[in-house]
Amino acid sequence: MTLGSRLRLATVWLSGCSGCHMSLLDLDEWLFVLADLAEIVYSPVASDCKIYPPQVDVCLVEGAVANRDNLELALQLRACTTVVIALGDCAALGNVTALRNLCGAGVQQSAGEALDCAYRHLSDGEGRVPTDPILLPRVLPLHRVIAVDGVIPGCPPTAAAIRAALETLLQR
Ligand code: SF4
Repeated sequence: MTLGSRLRLATVWLSGCSGCHMSLLDLDEWLFVLADLAEIVYSPVASDCKIYPPQVDVCLVEGAVANRDNLELALQLRACTTVVIALGDCAALGNVTALRNLCGAGVQQSAGEALDCAYRHLSDGEGRVPTDPILLPRVLPLHRVIAVDGVIPGCPPTAAAIRAALETLLQR
């Protein structure tokens, strides 16, 4: 961030339930303070921007890396961001999203086994397995894919924890 400029802040939603972003919205009136101090340049809750922009100062990332779209976005945001923060336990550890890793007999089989279970064995419909987005063989926490600079733990993290982290980053 250059002197005198507002922090360029992004938030990204990979494979998660959106609960971490709901906690972000629980900041309530402090969001007005944040809006004065930071420019939200990419976010599912505060921006219409569809393409991850360059020169982002801080990115909060919700969710684990579960499919190729997640993987591409994770690599892109890392290349364009100074500080990447894993927001919540799915991004940090895999957590709920990674439960599908328990499917299947082998470590490389969880995607196929999970899709078969959900769309064929347990389905009362036509049992057609979706092909988009393409699932990775296993769900990965963010740090297994890109370098992560910090973690805000919790499922979801509390609004107070998110605010404390942002206040620290805004003072840099
Ligand atoms: Fe949802 Fe919890 Fe995962 Fe956040 S950490 S995306 S609240 S399951």
